[in-house]
Amino acid sequence: MENVLDYDYNSLYEKLKREKIEPYRATQIFDWIYKKKVSSFSVMTNLSKKLRENLSRHLEVRFPELVTTARSKDGTVKFLWKYDDKSTVESVLLRYPGRTSACVSSQVGCALGCEFCATGKSGFVRNLTSGEILAQILGMEKAENERIGNVVFMGMGEPMLNYDEVMRAIRVMVDSKALKISQRRISISTAGVVEGIKRLSNEPLDVILSISLHAPDDEKRSRIMPINQRYPLSVLLNAVKEYQSIKKRRVTFEYILFDGFNDSLKDAMKLVEILEDINCNVNLIAYNETGSKFKRTPADKARQFEEFLKAHGLEAVIRVEKGSDIDAACGQLRRRIL
Ligand code: SAH
Ligand code: SF4
Repeated sequence: MENVLDYDYNSLYEKLKREKIEPYRATQIFDWIYKKKVSSFSVMTNLSKKLRENLSRHLEVRFPELVTTARSKDGTVKFLWKYDDKSTVESVLLRYPGRTSACVSSQVGCALGCEFCATGKSGFVRNLTSGEILAQILGMEKAENERIGNVVFMGMGEPMLNYDEVMRAIRVMVDSKALKISQRRISISTAGVVEGIKRLSNEPLDVILSISLHAPDDEKRSRIMPINQRYPLSVLLNAVKEYQSIKKRRVTFEYILFDGFNDSLKDAMKLVEILEDINCNVNLIAYNETGSKFKRTPADKARQFEEFLKAHGLEAVIRVEKGSDIDAACGQLRRRIL
């Protein structure tokens, strides 16, 4: 049966109309699901019993099973979910002073096969539906009895290769009748799928675009990210510039520091050069070692890299590491359990 979580407001409105149910009931249903956090029509008491029965004939509120959680000393909680077809994905809840952020998955596995990534190494299974993405957020809010104010698509999968479902999920996230999360508190992270960046430029949405760069030249980037062969840096960075000329917003670049691979000052200089005319900030990420041949850059060397970028006018920060005691890199919990 169809899952009501897979509907954004307009499509639910139309669906109810088609089923001869008063379409304005969509507002009440959204209120119960996204604000009161219920998971069954039967408890929606401002709808008549007849209407609830009628709804249950057409739709259900379907959540994945929570398989396990891992809890870090720093407040980070990692969730492993299982959908009806036995597919599993991870989400992570991250606590910062004054806000709680969710890192969600957009696909089961990932087809892009980045060398350093546990998800990439596990292959691609399928896309998630928008409801399956939203259920991760609702499930975490319910489990922790806490409101999530920020969402990053940095869990498993490449969001730009599941574009329509990701956009539908975002429409519900930002909808004031549903989760009411500010647009600028949602980040889409991409390994560099240029069509997706182009589509996003024309979307009436103001989310944060985050590019996983991880290397300062084509030779190195192609060695760790196969997608670079399809979209080399010049093509990718042009798409980012075009995005920026339309949206007039700062973009983020993610750069994992790999010991002895991309962390020399020469690499830093190249990075300064290629990002010169882009309004951006650079997040330097400590690598979560996942059994690949890569190792994490030592902290003092990472600091030097950061200082070099800053001295050359780039806004760079070493991202605070969260949940390192629970294998925070996505794909790791799933791999350990299965
Ligand atoms: N597919 C998208 C989004 C999911 S990955 C993308 O690649 O951007 C989210 C981020 O986590 C990416 O920047 C990715 O490169 C990074 N990442 C993957 N494995 C990691 C690891 N083991 N340690 C640190 N970051 C990792
Ligand atoms: Fe896929 Fe992103 Fe992992 Fe690359 S880093 S394999 S794009 S999830």
